[in-house]
Amino acid sequence: MGPRDGLQNEAPVPTEAKVELIDALSKTGVERIEAVSFVHPRAIPQMADADEVWRRIARNSGVRYSALVPNLRGAQRALDLDVRDIEVVVSASDTHNRKNVNRSTEESLDEAAALVDLVHGVGGTVQVIVSTAWGCPYEGDVPAERVLGVAARAVRDGADSISFGDTTGMATPGRVTRLIGELRSAFPDIDVNLHFHNTRGAGLANVLAALQLGINDFDASVGGLGGCPYAPGASGNIASEELVHMVEDMGVDTGIDLDALLDVASTAERIVGRTLPSQVLRAGPRTRLAAS
Ligand code: ZN
Repeated sequence: MGPRDGLQNEAPVPTEAKVELIDALSKTGVERIEAVSFVHPRAIPQMADADEVWRRIARNSGVRYSALVPNLRGAQRALDLDVRDIEVVVSASDTHNRKNVNRSTEESLDEAAALVDLVHGVGGTVQVIVSTAWGCPYEGDVPAERVLGVAARAVRDGADSISFGDTTGMATPGRVTRLIGELRSAFPDIDVNLHFHNTRGAGLANVLAALQLGINDFDASVGGLGGCPYAPGASGNIASEELVHMVEDMGVDTGIDLDALLDVASTAERIVGRTLPSQVLRAGPRTRLAAS
């Protein structure tokens, strides 16, 4: 999701650089790319050219390209461009949801239900992202019952999958284990994706905790792109190549070419014109030996 969650939180880059990044990612073996978000350009100027980016991507048939939308209007814009895999965010924290989309969590859940009907009507899929799942910068801890209640409502309303978002990097492995444990007893079968930011350095540790509970779908951004340049302390998603580097060595076959991904991470650095936080990009993979 570097092209979306990453670039949305960097200084704006040209359309052709976005297309270049998405097309390069599509050749690394990743199965899914969250390419753009259809938000109001006043809210997020970095995504003002989403329509054009979406039209110009060189489609790889092995990749599912998805888009994030904030509401029904964004979903309609996406469907008009033939987007069929759509994500929508609902914050478990009412305060965060109001700051984000200017309405209550309940109101956003109502809209998400209508959005699911709209997207299903044309054969698409919807992932509902429950954000602030491990804490809210305004409210602090968000009770697990609240987080699971929001997820339960989305599932009941037809969401094809659920994602839990650690929006501002407040998760720790212990908290991941507790929430996923409770989720699994409530919904043993639902497809779950986890979205961690590395704000406090716990990103990969959180992945490891979730892997041990059988979760195998994680968001990541190439190079660790993201981390709003205007918000001190903000940080991007876990870096895709750090995630691949770690789990491949644990015997997980991701199907992703790590060297190709590292090349894309270098491209991402060139595009945003700054050093990205990925440590595997700095040090190289563990299999790369020093010249003797
Ligand atoms: Zn995020």
